[in-house]
Amino acid sequence: MFLDRDGVVIEEVSYLSSMNHLALFPWTTDSIRALNRAGIPVVVVTNQSGVARGLFDEAFVDEVHREISARLAMGGARIDAYYYCPHHPDGSVAGYARACDCRKPRPGLIDRAVRDLNLDPARSFVVGDKWSDVELAHAAGARGVLVRTGHGADEQARPRLGKGADAVVDNLAAAASWILQSLKSEV
Ligand SMILES: [Mg+2]
Ligand SMILES: [Zn+2]
Repeated sequence: MFLDRDGVVIEEVSYLSSMNHLALFPWTTDSIRALNRAGIPVVVVTNQSGVARGLFDEAFVDEVHREISARLAMGGARIDAYYYCPHHPDGSVAGYARACDCRKPRPGLIDRAVRDLNLDPARSFVVGDKWSDVELAHAAGARGVLVRTGHGADEQARPRLGKGADAVVDNLAAAASWILQSLKSEV
């Protein structure tokens, strides 16, 4: 299960650049723990163009991910891996200001995770709050779930990119239930 970070796992704050603004949703830990218990690998895939824009550096992104993991661990939940794209074609920081194959909806991050963790995209899901996350899912050969948290409610009102979502649900908790249910009915 691939999770978008901002607006799905944590509150969307538009370029998280201070740890003070980091907030998990109240249901995040329970939802991820349920996936852990079902034996489903949980991988975060996130665009962090704030690096290319000079708003924060990669060390800060790593620090945020360590902090998310520490908070999840207090509730017995675990994210197995984090993959992020630090690039943006209109960025200002040398080395990061470029087109790349990993900025979602391009499937570079998922391709890397699939190789590193030996996952099967056809049996995977992407949960995100933007149509680009759903588009990413389909580009990678996975299924896409749109949540209404973060940008999700606005996105739903906007013309979608590409093929529609396989499900549109309220939040990560509902997405986790939907996915556990779909997997059960496939067995
Ligand atoms: Mg998002
Ligand atoms: Zn990239």
